[in-house]
Amino acid sequence: MSDGGTGAGGTGSPAGTGDAAGTEVTAGTGGAAGTGATRSGFVALAGRPNVGKSTLVNALVGEKVAIVSDRPQTTRRAIRGVRSAGSCQMVLVDLPGVQRPRDALTERMAGRVRQELEGCDAALMVLNGEQGVGPGDRFIAQALAGAGEHPAVTIAVNKADRLTRAETIAMLEQAVALGISEDVFPISARTGTGVDALTDHLVAAMPQGPFMFGAGASSDQPQAVLLAELVREAVIKRTFHELPHAIEVVVEEIEWIGGGRNNDLARVRALIWVESESQKGILIGARGRMIKAIGVAARKELERELGSQVHLDLSVRVRRDWRGDEGLLDRLGIT
Ligand code: GDP
Ligand code: MG
Repeated sequence: MSDGGTGAGGTGSPAGTGDAAGTEVTAGTGGAAGTGATRSGFVALAGRPNVGKSTLVNALVGEKVAIVSDRPQTTRRAIRGVRSAGSCQMVLVDLPGVQRPRDALTERMAGRVRQELEGCDAALMVLNGEQGVGPGDRFIAQALAGAGEHPAVTIAVNKADRLTRAETIAMLEQAVALGISEDVFPISARTGTGVDALTDHLVAAMPQGPFMFGAGASSDQPQAVLLAELVREAVIKRTFHELPHAIEVVVEEIEWIGGGRNNDLARVRALIWVESESQKGILIGARGRMIKAIGVAARKELERELGSQVHLDLSVRVRRDWRGDEGLLDRLGIT
């Protein structure tokens, strides 16, 4: 397996951060420096639950990556992870809406898939090699095929570590028989077998362009986690005496206005979780003064990190005993 993306990572934060407006976040530091020939793009992930999407993202992005948005019904562009390696950045996003065959394949759904695929440069459908191709997979394939003009689909047949050679071949044939792609890769997201070949294939599909996310601090963790940490710092700085460690921050969405190509403006939606109504009151402050101050400070930090203007949407929610909430802990990437 590859190095999980540290190659281009380097240390520096994105170049040119002083100038907030419209500054590009560039690769800056890595081995590709000087050539200027970076590539970057979005890969839309599709596949039934449990086929191994999260495991594959971990394999691609690096160990211990926090899964920030692992819910089926998240908004557009739910970012799973950002792989910055060498001169290429791949942003893995969910293709929601087709993970479960619970609705009929309506026009409306087809439209939604089309919309989701818009702006993606590759689609990756993951199959569970252990289970064979089933109705759920055919449903997803049909939705992809019906999405009109869309990026080329690649299929990963996962869990190949559980298959004999003959079973693997049979599974690859079933995958091709879905009729949506000839580019089929047997992999094991768990052991890493085949992941490099799949990665090379996806990298080749990424168009030339600057990195969309800072490669500096976050080549091994999703941007959202880093941004959440910056927001959290801004909160702690101002509420340290009142709310020592009772807060947690989740960045729910990072939306690039302008197609995600030029970093003009990022809309960041963050949730601050507290444990009681009184903590919420402290955080919001009299006439909202505290949360406003936190927002201004946090936004500056996010702008520095992203090298673009940021619209920060902060909300405060009460969740008692979040430490005992396994689902939330998962989303926060706490292991
Ligand atoms: P997701 O629902 O598609 O995100 O699937 P997960 O990544 O959560 O994986 C579902 C289950 O399959 C987990 O128990 C994983 O450990 C397991 N799994 C994922 N990839 C592999 C693989 O390549 N081989 C094997 N044997 N198990 C895997
Ligand atoms: Mg998952």
